[in-house]
Amino acid sequence: MATAPSLRMSAEIAQQIRHHGAETYPHECCGALLGRDGLDGLITSAGNAQLPMREVVALFPLVNRRDDSPRNRFSITAEDVREAEKVARGKKLDIVGWYHSHPDHPAKPSQYDRDHAWPWYSYVIVSVANGKPAEMTSWRLSDDRADYACEEIAIRDHAAR
Ligand SMILES: [Zn+2]
Repeated sequence: MATAPSLRMSAEIAQQIRHHGAETYPHECCGALLGRDGLDGLITSAGNAQLPMREVVALFPLVNRRDDSPRNRFSITAEDVREAEKVARGKKLDIVGWYHSHPDHPAKPSQYDRDHAWPWYSYVIVSVANGKPAEMTSWRLSDDRADYACEEIAIRDHAAR
């Protein structure tokens, strides 16, 4: 438990991801997760300052550019990455991951998701059932791509300091 990766975000950020998924339903939404990653005592709560942690403090919504299959495919282009990086730098943050929605599908990565994932990043998936946001999960691909593991999403009531 102590070494399991987790992804922190405020209730507000979680709500924004869900809202984006509802907004683009029945199509997928996608976007960048901007925040901080590392052993940073400043952004951990008292008592677990030694845990590796990652926190999302802002979102950068993207336009789903795939028009062949917008219901079940999302793609992040090099241009998207550059734009997201620029916005992140402006906020003194890093891109710590990406999010997208699964309209009328469980919040589990598809083979496509796994094939197109990059190691290190957190991949948040929100299931949107009949237009209503449901379960939200996060996933991380190992460096050797052998393992695509679920990580805990820790939602806080208050926004990051
Ligand atoms: Zn997906």
